[in-house]
Amino acid sequence: VPAPNDLGAYWMPFTANRQFKAAPRLLVSADGMYYSSHDGRQVLDGTAGLWCVNAGHNRAPIVEAIRRAAGELDYAPSFQMGHPGAFRAASALAALAPVGLDHVFFTGSGSESVDTALKIALAYHRVRGEGQRTRLIGRERGYHGVGFGGISVGGIATNRRTFGPLLAGVDHLPHTYDRTRQGFSRGQPEWGADLADALDRIVTLHDPSTIAAVIVEPMAGSTGVLVPPRGYLERLRATCDRHGILLIFDEVITGFGRLGAPFAADRLGVVPDLMTVAKGLTNGAVPMGAVLVSGAVHDAFMQGPPGQIELFHGYTYSAHPLACAAAEATLALYREEGLFQRAADLEPVLEEAVHALRGRRHVIDVRNLGLVAGIELEPRPNAPGARAYEAFVRCYEAGVLIRVTGDIIALSPPLIVSEAEIGRIVDTLRDVLELVT
Ligand code: PMP
Repeated sequence: VPAPNDLGAYWMPFTANRQFKAAPRLLVSADGMYYSSHDGRQVLDGTAGLWCVNAGHNRAPIVEAIRRAAGELDYAPSFQMGHPGAFRAASALAALAPVGLDHVFFTGSGSESVDTALKIALAYHRVRGEGQRTRLIGRERGYHGVGFGGISVGGIATNRRTFGPLLAGVDHLPHTYDRTRQGFSRGQPEWGADLADALDRIVTLHDPSTIAAVIVEPMAGSTGVLVPPRGYLERLRATCDRHGILLIFDEVITGFGRLGAPFAADRLGVVPDLMTVAKGLTNGAVPMGAVLVSGAVHDAFMQGPPGQIELFHGYTYSAHPLACAAAEATLALYREEGLFQRAADLEPVLEEAVHALRGRRHVIDVRNLGLVAGIELEPRPNAPGARAYEAFVRCYEAGVLIRVTGDIIALSPPLIVSEAEIGRIVDTLRDVLELVT
């Protein structure tokens, strides 16, 4: 393990680099619910890595599948050819997906999935003779990865301001969070369905036949666990249907059991036209994402504009053999262990535990859905994010990994978590909040 001062060459996105060098947190191995750190400590994973290790760490069937694949077929192009593992992984994914979303386009990450989905939406309209449909609609506080498409439709102001002007013709819906009306909601808040009417206003402002697609996370994850108000997604769906607009769900976080069902579309009862996934698709073990679409959308995209014969869209690492092997093994493991149902069963346990933090020091809101919870802290005056960051450091030192985004703490343990482990994660956080300044 390098000494703290030798860590300078390692690029650490978005972390407080100086603090990290003073007290490095290096993860050297993992097993089940635990990471092992460089200084020999066990760290209980309250975040499933970055919301991706849904079946727990280093699961033998997944590790074995990757090993086997690596010894068999290191690489195969996805252009004009393929490999059997890609068909097996695609079939398993399509079988799990909501009815109708049975065509799979593999990518290498969530960001690639988002850019791919946006391009599919544009191509779909163009091929059908509706090339004027170019406008894309995202949402404030939406996170869709770091590609130019994703930050254009995303609602993270700093990304947009830093890298602009970005894609032209993008509008944003308002975000769905209002603490004064939704504070301490359990599950879906009752207030806020009519925020979806903003889509009608955008449609009125522009000719609806200029709008290609709306993209939202069904539950916004990394911007602070913003649970969709009851009825909100249904209203977005209805407006899209009325005007021939494609609805895209970014299920990179919500997919693969996080909300106690295969996808948020299942849990929340609204099926999109396109769905982006990544993370839990391979349990985090090999980078991979995918876009799921209907046969009609697929055919339009693959056909391309009239007369096109050149390279249209695809990645060198689309359907990489190791990723396909990992995905196939991961989806089988989810099924065999009934992990999505397990997440549903544990939802009330996590809900009770986190809502008991109400009234604790610094806590101004608690919200939850499935096996995800957000705990929002009152920001320290003149130092936004500092309080939650201190909670993160203290929790880590106490052997529990949490995730922070701004002053919001997100809990999203692997779906194999036990009731006792949920208790330990939340108890540690409760104790730490007493110490946080
Ligand atoms: N979409 C959503 C909803 C995400 O949460 C993320 C990652 N946190 C992404 C897209 C981007 O995925 P990746 O980091 O794999 O590019």
